[in-house]
Order: sequence, then C-alpha cells, then structure tokens
Amino acid sequence: MNILFLSAEAAPFVKVGGLGDVAGSLPRALAARGHDVRLALPGYGAIDWPRFAPLHRAVFDVPRRGGSDPADLWETSADGVPVYLITGPPIPKDSRIYGGSIDEDAPKFVFFSLAALEGCRRLSWRPDVIHANDWHTGPAVYRVAADRRDDPFFRTTATLYTIHNLPYTGRGAGRILAEWDLRTSPHLAVLPEWARDSMLGIGLATADVLTTVSPTYAREIRTPEGGHGLDGALSLRGDRLHGVLNGIDVDTWNPATDAAISSRFDVGALEQRAANRTALREEAGLEPDDRALVIGMVSRLDFQKGFDIALPALRRWLDSGGQLVLLGSGDSAIEREVATLEIGWRGRASVRLRFDPPYSRRIYAGADAILIPSRYEPCGLTQMIAMRYGAVPIARRTGGLADTITDVGDPGGTGILFDGYDPSSLVHALDRALSVYADGDRWRELQRNGMTKDFSWDRSAAQYEALYREALAYRRDATGPADGGD
Ligand code: ADP
Repeated sequence: MNILFLSAEAAPFVKVGGLGDVAGSLPRALAARGHDVRLALPGYGAIDWPRFAPLHRAVFDVPRRGGSDPADLWETSADGVPVYLITGPPIPKDSRIYGGSIDEDAPKFVFFSLAALEGCRRLSWRPDVIHANDWHTGPAVYRVAADRRDDPFFRTTATLYTIHNLPYTGRGAGRILAEWDLRTSPHLAVLPEWARDSMLGIGLATADVLTTVSPTYAREIRTPEGGHGLDGALSLRGDRLHGVLNGIDVDTWNPATDAAISSRFDVGALEQRAANRTALREEAGLEPDDRALVIGMVSRLDFQKGFDIALPALRRWLDSGGQLVLLGSGDSAIEREVATLEIGWRGRASVRLRFDPPYSRRIYAGADAILIPSRYEPCGLTQMIAMRYGAVPIARRTGGLADTITDVGDPGGTGILFDGYDPSSLVHALDRALSVYADGDRWRELQRNGMTKDFSWDRSAAQYEALYREALAYRRDATGPADGGD
C-alpha cells in the first residue's frame, strides 16, 4: 500500500512528546512490512536542516478562499522512509513548534495538512491510505472526504485518523477553517456545536476509520467521564473506532545494550541488574539500604499524571522506610510540591526536575518498581519501558496501562494495578507491592514476565495494516461516512 503518514512531529526531526515517538517509529515498522510509506512534517525552522540535507522537490500554491499560500516541498529520509518537509509562510522559521494560541497554530497546521495533500498530487504519488494524527492533521482527513466526488486523484484514497490525546482538540479554529472551506460538510452534524470549530472534530467526523492508542482508552472516550465532550460523537462513530496499542523501539530501549546504564543485563542474567540499583542510589543521593524497595517515577509533571493522589501516598511510603527516585518536569506548582519530598526525606527521596533521557534509563534499569498513578492514560510508554528493563510497574488500571500490564493476581502477571483514583487505593497497591517483593521468587517472576512481553512496533504495525484494509474496503463499498462533499 501507498501510505501517507501525517504528523506535527516525528523523531529524529522534531520531537516534543509521545506523538513524536510514534511518528518516528510506526512508519518504519510499516515500511519493514513492505509498504511504501512516506512521512510528511511541517518544515519548521527548528529542524536541523543541514543535518538532514533535504532536497527541494516541488513548489506550488495551496488555494484558500480569496487567495492562496505558496508552499515548498523538500525531501529527505529516515531509515529508508521518505520524509517530506513542507514549508511556507504559516510555518515558523524560528525555533517555535507549537505556539501559544489557536490563532497562531490553526493557520500553521491547516496549511501543512492541505499542502501535504497538494504535494502528493504534484509528485504524482497517490496514497491508498492517509494516516493522520491528532488535531493538527484533521483538515487533511476532512478535505479528502469532502472533495472525493470531484477529485479523481484522491477518489479511492481511504483515511485513518488516530487520536493520541483527546483533550487536545484545536478548538476555536472556526474562522480559519471557514477561510479554507473546512466547515460545511453535513457529516459535522455528529459533533457538538463547539467541536465543529475544532481541528480534531472535523477529522473525527469524516475519517473512514478512527483509532486511538489503546483498546481501553477507545472505550473510555465513549463515556461522559472520559469523552471530554466528544463521547457522543465518538459513540455515534463507535463502529469505526478501534484501539491499537503503541509500541516502543525495542532496539533503543534494550537493557542488554544500553550504553547509559552501568550494568547491562537481560532476562537470562537478571542478577546483573542489582548493580544498577546500587549505582542509582549513589547517583540519586539515596542511603544504601538493601531492605528498602526503590520506587522510580519518570513523568511529565501534569494534571494527567496523578501527582495529587501520589503525594500523600508517597509521604506514607517514605515514612514507612521506602525509597523514591523521581525525574520529571512540567507544571511549576507540581514541581514545587514534589520537591518537598526530597527536603522532607533526605537520603530516602531524590527529586530531579529536568528532562534527562540518559538518567531516565538508569532509573528504569535500577529502580525496583515504577509508579504510574495516572488519572487517564491513552497508552503510556513508561510502563512498557519499565517492564522491558525489569522494573515492576505499579499503575492505575486505566487506558493503555490496563491493556499492557497484567496484575500480579492474574496468570502471567507483570505488575500491580489499582482502580480507585485516591491516595488510599494507591497506598494499598504499594502495600501489595511490598508483600510480593518480600517473596523474591514471585517478584522475579513478575520481572521475567514483563521482560519477555512483546512491545515491539511490528505488532502494532500489523494491526494498523488490517485497519487500512478495512478503511479501503469502506471506500470500495462507498459506504464511508463521508463519501462525497455533499
Ligand atoms: P506522555 O507522552 O503522556 O508524557 P508516555 O508514558 O506516553 O507519557 O511517554 C513518556 C515518555 O517520556 C517516556 O519515554 C518517558 O521515559 C519520557 N520522559 C518523561 N519525563 C521525562 C524526563 N523528565 N526525562 C526524560 N524522559 C522523560
């Protein structure tokens, strides 16, 4: 299949969050399965242009109401995947990627979405499937659906639209959407009024197939608690909505080869892991205490990540002799709060407020357990990395955490799950962890089970491939939700 993959970010070109990881890995996994996958990204000034040395491939106009914007398409590649960088007046030439307001971002991402489509036409490369991601690329999904009838080039092209994090909708974009003729389809009727002015909404209403990044999150977002106002629309489109778990790059996240950790190990030599805990204690400034269980946290400090329930539980944890290594950055109020743990329990709690990937690897390799008490979690990568590194995840049973971690009480257990979003449920989970830890064999079994689970992208790529075929079948049957611009 010819697959055009659209994303606002992708490693190694430009990465702000998890979307960048996915868009960096999934196209490669699809290409390895024999597809002609091409990735399109905004050609931000923030990209290291000399390093990637893109070639100029096309210049064209992207029409909008009352005028047009000129676009340039540049081509480079990443691990054999062709990558198109789109530049033009709305794409910032400085270091900005995401701006501070929808007025700044909507023109940028509408232009990018539509220019990527136009670029395919100029290169005479017709995608069978357009795989668009998150609110930034909703306009491409809408445009293909709305123009199908009059546009022979994209007539048979199917669209798959992935929601990585539902609350980010790109709302308030009505004026810009109108300027680019992106608001008139009758299919938008599934949306609440406010969402018709959102970039995510117009994609969600018109895609042939919708996905999100875990089966549990796909169910949760159809409920009022998890739907952020879009549960009605997602329920109406429920037969088209699927959950596909993200993977991790198992080559770069590999404790047997990781150059950042002090003692490399694999599931057959788990005893070599212990040296990493000693080294971590030393690096983090924790007292040597071989009886204490070391909990690690590697997280954005954000409302989503559950620090309001974690803090009271962690104070109790530290009082009762546990240890904690925390690495995170983000919300300044949460930063201030977590910093008090190190001050209150010096030698037992270590808090580093920065973004530090090498140090995160030493935490995954050295901590006994990794705590992930998220309020909601579309997929989550931390728990998969933790399991790959033999750190037992202690996590809330929500979204992708529920789908990737098997509780110790179930066959093939890999971690400890808790349900309630409150400190006492978390305290109870920590107590359970301690009792399993006291039984060394049981703990090692959890570690082994986690380390041998398949978190590779190939598994996800196979599922996307099946859904691309489903989307194409909707096109062939012309029973798609938006089989015309009517
Ligand atoms: P989200 O994308 O919501 O932040 P995920 O669990 O999907 O959460 O992905 C988080 C990724 O970012 C993981 O790879 C984690 O190791 C990494 N990470 C988070 N915070 C930090 C930090 N302060 N330093 C280094 N890596 C971090």
